Amino acid sequence: MRISRRQFSQLSAMAVAAELAPPMTAQLASRKIGYAVIGLGRIADHFLRGVQASGNSKITALVSGHPDKAAGIAAQYGVPKANIYNYENMDSFRDNPAIDAVYVALPNSMHAEYTIRSAKAGKHVLCEKPMCVSVLEAEAMIAACKAANVKLMIAYRCHFEPTNLAAVKLIRDGALGQVQQIQSAFGFNCGAQEWRLQKPLAGGGPLMDVGIYCLNATRYLTGEEPAAFSAYTHSNPNDPRFQTVEENLNWITRFPSGILATCETSYGANMDGYFRVYGSKGWLEVDTAFAYEGLSLKADCYDASGKHIQLDQPNPEKDPIHFTREADHFSDCILNNRTPKTPGEEGLRDMQCIREIYRSAGIAMA
Ligand code: NAD
Repeated sequence: MRISRRQFSQLSAMAVAAELAPPMTAQLASRKIGYAVIGLGRIADHFLRGVQASGNSKITALVSGHPDKAAGIAAQYGVPKANIYNYENMDSFRDNPAIDAVYVALPNSMHAEYTIRSAKAGKHVLCEKPMCVSVLEAEAMIAACKAANVKLMIAYRCHFEPTNLAAVKLIRDGALGQVQQIQSAFGFNCGAQEWRLQKPLAGGGPLMDVGIYCLNATRYLTGEEPAAFSAYTHSNPNDPRFQTVEENLNWITRFPSGILATCETSYGANMDGYFRVYGSKGWLEVDTAFAYEGLSLKADCYDASGKHIQLDQPNPEKDPIHFTREADHFSDCILNNRTPKTPGEEGLRDMQCIREIYRSAGIAMA
């Protein structure tokens, strides 16, 4: 049986109904959650645009080391000049009631400091992935947010994305039978000027940045926590880009049920993010899986009644929808005192896994 576009939409809708319910509720909220965006780089631009389409979120402040850039963005998004902060005076935003939450969009090694400072200022924190650069930092971030009684969410946007959720639903519904193997990759050819190549700022190489998508996907696809890792790395010793961070890193994860996941990440080659899941009754593929748009699901498997399911379904959604959903969800959690779907503990688990992968590959981690 070939599934039609309409049937796929129904499948996707079923898969995401529960996820999307909170934003619908939130649209009825009496007020919008005000965000201070900390760091005005590339990902912040997606978030700023995403929040514009949100029913329960708005941008109310900016934190930047570049006053001219901040002034331009403030004008574009209607942020008052008085609500532009820099990295030094940011803590004074504790007295600004227009700011309920922050979005931390800085280089990885700055996430912990700015999360903890924001929590101490009484603001909820939506922090970009990777959560930070060490297990100890992740634990300190969680503790700081708990002590300040503010919420902490890690910006794992794929947890709110319908194509990824449809893949998870097919697996949970048993359409693939017993999952046996997962393959996933994500990488890009990193420009020499990027902070991503400096370990003090990045904490690590492509594993911290894009390999983490594969790692996190294998965890949400299986619904299991890894039992063991085995990893290899190689960096071109003559390439000046890879003096402090790894270039290529491959690892195998063994999950408690016996599922084996093979993952690849690189800063030396462009690798569109994807995953393939092979089960005893069928397979599915999401390619691309982690981009801001252009995601696509293919599957060949069987539903509970034994009917053949064949899917070949591109997702037509456009950037910045992922960021709208992420903001909707976190704001809903704040407005209705719910726990985020991707709390600090989710980021901590990835940091623990990254520590084990690096350990297996012989790479030192902070
Ligand atoms: P970017 O280089 O485009 O932006 C970084 C921002 O931090 C800039 O505004 C820069 O001025 C500021 N900054 C402050 N101190 C800095 C310093 N010492 N060195 C360099 N920059 C400094 O980076 P980006 O791609 O926006 O990444 C920011 C964070 O977002 C990273 O943690 C990254 O992993 C994450 N990210 C997430 C996604 C996603 O899809 N969720 C995608 C890309 C990046």
